[in-house]
Amino acid sequence: MAYTVKILDIFSLTHDVKQLKVEKPKGYDFIPGQATEVAINQSGWRDEKRPFTFTSLPSDEHLEFVIKSYRDHEGVTKKIDELIAGEELILDDAWGAIQYHGKGTFIAGGAGITPFISIFRDLASKGETTGNRLIFANKTGKDVVLEGYFQELLGDQFTSILSDEKIPGHEHGLINMEFLKKHISDFSQNFYICGPDKMVSDLSESLKFLGADPDGITFEK
Ligand SMILES: Cc1cc2nc3c(=O)[nH]c(=O)nc-3n(C[C@H](O)[C@H](O)[C@H](O)COP(=O)(O)OP(=O)(O)OC[C@H]3O[C@@H](n4cnc5c(N)ncnc54)[C@H](O)[C@@H]3O)c2cc1C
Repeated sequence: MAYTVKILDIFSLTHDVKQLKVEKPKGYDFIPGQATEVAINQSGWRDEKRPFTFTSLPSDEHLEFVIKSYRDHEGVTKKIDELIAGEELILDDAWGAIQYHGKGTFIAGGAGITPFISIFRDLASKGETTGNRLIFANKTGKDVVLEGYFQELLGDQFTSILSDEKIPGHEHGLINMEFLKKHISDFSQNFYICGPDKMVSDLSESLKFLGADPDGITFEK
């Protein structure tokens, strides 16, 4: 089903990531971690649907998205970057495999953080963050979305790793086998992975090699 919703607020979180607060259709529901197809309600754009993940809580009065823009070509995210409050989006129903199944380690790359924003907000609202850990990979320090929020929420259970920059307080390099062995002692726990396809497939293979149960690894298939 298609829902036309107004953008209530739109602002920058980083140099290329915007947060959008939009109207929530009456009775609209989703599970933290789920996404929907989004199109811009403008001539020439209505059929260009792209998946984006809700970063708000199902109980919030509005819906929220965190969207990274690829400004190097004329795609939907570049156009979203130019939208202002009052303009409209067309949403579909919620779908997606990523949802919380119990305590574990969450591994995100770049915009792959979005399902975990909603999941961690949900856990925080229930006082259930303890025992969960987040490892967040980005290129540089200025790419780390909601760094302060995650630091405050998770303390030393939040690890940021940067591939292209060495900055105090952040690990440097890629999340590879060596990193996983150094930072994770229990591979029998749940793992949640979201990021570029190659990162997700490489990491789930590495985790399985290190002893993780394939059924305990959650990612968007
Ligand atoms: C389930 C799911 C949930 C998602 N949730 C989110 C979310 O919450 N937030 C978010 O930011 N993203 C999310 N994404 C990713 C998001 O859907 C894509 O970034 C978006 O579809 C890109 O749309 P686009 O029209 O701008 O780019 P497209 O034209 O669809 O291009 C997609 C990719 O190809 C590259 N590309 C294509 N053409 C060119 C070109 N001519 N020049 C240079 N590069 C090119 C772009 O760099 C981009 O990575 C999600 C993806 C999935 C599958």
